[in-house]
Amino acid sequence: MVLLGATGSIGESTLRVLSAHRDRLELVGVAARTNHARLAQIARDFGVKHVAVYDEAAGAAARASGAFPAGTVLRTGLPGLIELAQLPAADIVLVAVVGTTGLEPALAALAAGKDLALASKEILVLAGKFIMAEARRHGGKLLPVDSEHSAVFQCLEGHPQAGIRRIVLTASGGAFRDWPHERLAHVTPEDATKHPNWSMGPKITVDSATLANKGLELIEAQWLFNLRPEQCTAVLHPQSIVHCLVEFTDGAMLAQLSPPSMTFPIQHALLHPDRAPGVEPALDFTRLLGLEFRPVDELRFPCFNLARQAMVAGGIAPAVFNAANEVAVAAFLGGRLPFLAIPRVIDETLQDVKHFEPESLAAVLEADAAARRAATARLRRHA
Ligand code: MG
Repeated sequence: MVLLGATGSIGESTLRVLSAHRDRLELVGVAARTNHARLAQIARDFGVKHVAVYDEAAGAAARASGAFPAGTVLRTGLPGLIELAQLPAADIVLVAVVGTTGLEPALAALAAGKDLALASKEILVLAGKFIMAEARRHGGKLLPVDSEHSAVFQCLEGHPQAGIRRIVLTASGGAFRDWPHERLAHVTPEDATKHPNWSMGPKITVDSATLANKGLELIEAQWLFNLRPEQCTAVLHPQSIVHCLVEFTDGAMLAQLSPPSMTFPIQHALLHPDRAPGVEPALDFTRLLGLEFRPVDELRFPCFNLARQAMVAGGIAPAVFNAANEVAVAAFLGGRLPFLAIPRVIDETLQDVKHFEPESLAAVLEADAAARRAATARLRRHA
């Protein structure tokens, strides 16, 4: 396998899974954005010959460091990631790079006939139409790594499409699920990056607190499982033990349960369709385990509603939602935007950017850039 985004949170969890299953999985290529010191260590630990550093300056530093084992082939930039995604020795490529950087490498992997394990949700949100078409054209499997989508994938296996009524993704509700609404005006970046259940990067932790993350996941699910927008819903489930519920037309529901750790969905994607011992203990039913479900309070989570609107609108709207959210969250994390202004920036950006149905990836990327400019212009009014 090839792992793009080896030094992030998903990357590190993936390495734990790989370490436990060295008899079945071999790492042949790894990439990181900037952290070349960690990348060199991974190359040594796993005997990886092909590495890539996305950031050119960090790539030059990596070459100069002399830290990589002799015989390592070091590539840089987007072309480096794309070459890695197409390595002849790889059967499966796991894309876990932040944001939209993984888009072209993901398409390249599918074009080369690889299976694609997807952790970066932006890829389907922006380019679901192109990714799904490329997978169909070349016969590659799409294996979700996001915990909720892995859960849906597991619940749907063996069930005909016509029998699915809807899927319900669970949301922890993030860091502020029990805060009174008045307090949300004073949320600091530090408050927003403490997630009660999951350990993740700062951007996705903020997205969990606003439920923008769950909105992006509905859009992701729509593409992965070929569903209509009204078939994709969410429920608050503070324990993050049940990752999805799938409701069938007869009213029966299947759920998938596992502890809140990414090693479970990662292992499922990498070993599919096989099962093997997990790297962490399963749930322990000899201890008290309470599971709660509550409806999503749409007043408290306006970003969730905006994502649903974008999903229903289709075309470039999901890409515009994603871009505006990224700009707003970065400004919030940088102390330049109040927490409650995040949905306002997204809402205004969705109205600013002219809607259309993209016919190429280039058109999507143009819409993404236009949305970033519009959102950046909107920031000033809310700072
Ligand atoms: Mg998720």
